[in-house]
Amino acid sequence: MDRPRFVIDAAEAESMAKQLGLTVPHLLPSLVKSAQALARPPISNFSVGAVGLGSSGRIYLGANLEFPGLPLHHSVHAEQFLVTNLFLNAEPHLRYIAVSDAPCGHCRQFLQETRGASNIEVLITGQDEPNYIPVSQLLPHRFGPDDLLTKDVPLLLESHRNGLGFPNNFHCNGETGNWDLLKHAALEAANKSHAPYSRCPSGVALMDSEGKIYRGSYMESAAYNPSLGPVQAAVVALLMGGGEYEGIVAAVLVEKEGAVVKQEQTARLLLQSISTECEFKVFHCSLNMDGFRE
Ligand SMILES: [Zn+2]
Repeated sequence: MDRPRFVIDAAEAESMAKQLGLTVPHLLPSLVKSAQALARPPISNFSVGAVGLGSSGRIYLGANLEFPGLPLHHSVHAEQFLVTNLFLNAEPHLRYIAVSDAPCGHCRQFLQETRGASNIEVLITGQDEPNYIPVSQLLPHRFGPDDLLTKDVPLLLESHRNGLGFPNNFHCNGETGNWDLLKHAALEAANKSHAPYSRCPSGVALMDSEGKIYRGSYMESAAYNPSLGPVQAAVVALLMGGGEYEGIVAAVLVEKEGAVVKQEQTARLLLQSISTECEFKVFHCSLNMDGFRE
């Protein structure tokens, strides 16, 4: 069976649109059902699919994930999956989204973390006569990064260099082999994390039984609750890479020592719920000399 596809490159997107006599933005609705098929909603059985077009011309797919046995806030919404997909592929801007159902308030809020979010055009395929409308119409009078941050702070999907490193004596704790690989992968993810509100960036790296590593970065929302945890982001990376929950054998979280926002307990809960075989370790990092720029 072919592995599910989560990204379509620009040339293929152009060619698919041309064959159907459509523009690329108008191709997106025809892919929404394929995105819905990627959903894993064992609690609601309500599959949501989101298909996005980035400024590079690439198309990205996202779907909702739910985790039985855990509170609902652990869920990943389809639009969050989609934005994580863009993040993992270093796509700087999301221009269009076609989605199976109206984006919930949580997702409208989460999208605010990207630069120019108001101009993203959204089409809801489940509606009569679907048409693209800008996010500014879906979320008027919005609260967002501009209310809390200065203009020079990087937003989600923009380049982050959080300046985190391990303490100098870190090599003394004797981590070797896979754990060493995982802790550096998780540090790399933490350095890309979008956490301008709490200034507590974090990252997770998962390893599957084949030794493949998947990274996830914590992504904060100005409204706090729509933030997406680093484990959720890593799980998105796992599914995009063809991995399975039960295949996760090791996981590392890297976060700051004494952080006011900690991921450790919630990360442990989620990992325990999806993989019985997963061994989990936490490593603490601190700011390097250059630290945060602001
Ligand atoms: Zn949502």
